Amino acid sequence: MLAFPERLDCSFDGAVVQNSPLSWIARNNSKASRIVATECWVGQANAEWSANRLDASRDAIAAELAHEFGKLVGVAMNPEYLSAHRWKYAIPSTPLDLDTGCLFDDALNIGLCGDWCLGNRVEAAWLSGTAAATRLLEIR
Ligand SMILES: Cc1cc2nc3c(=O)[nH]c(=O)nc-3n(C[C@H](O)[C@H](O)[C@H](O)COP(=O)(O)OP(=O)(O)OC[C@H]3O[C@@H](n4cnc5c(N)ncnc54)[C@H](O)[C@@H]3O)c2cc1C
Repeated sequence: MLAFPERLDCSFDGAVVQNSPLSWIARNNSKASRIVATECWVGQANAEWSANRLDASRDAIAAELAHEFGKLVGVAMNPEYLSAHRWKYAIPSTPLDLDTGCLFDDALNIGLCGDWCLGNRVEAAWLSGTAAATRLLEIR
């Protein structure tokens, strides 16, 4: 996450990135209903690059990704705030892609749901939770 004292002179608010340690960047303050005026960008490093650096220091990772961000956006790096977070289990790498949307044990009436059942985004989590709730409501 990077914050800047002024708006960056950049023609886009978000990008899927290829051939870079970063896989995705977004101007956070451009998202709908955000009331924060600060120019703030969030970037996610790609999974393979991250997996190879799990033991690296937070500051070293932040500096390296900030440098990559600067190359992508084409600005000199002068963030007034810079931080990195190691989100070790952020994205299910192999979702189950279940036809049923969730796992459910009919004998015990216990269900398991989450994004990992269908994908790796919040839509998958919602659909999976809805599937589990539907199964529970069917119990007589
Ligand atoms: C940094 C980041 C950015 C993201 N951005 C986006 C985005 O822009 N758009 C998008 O669609 N998706 C995004 N996602 C993905 C999205 O957040 C997930 O797909 C979604 O939150 C998954 O929902 P879930 O309910 O399956 O799991 P979670 O949201 O992980 O919820 C699981 C819950 O279970 C709790 N829990 C875990 N273990 C236990 C236990 N033993 N006992 C009790 N409780 C427990 C946890 O505390 C947590 O509250 C992002 C994820 C991350 C990490």
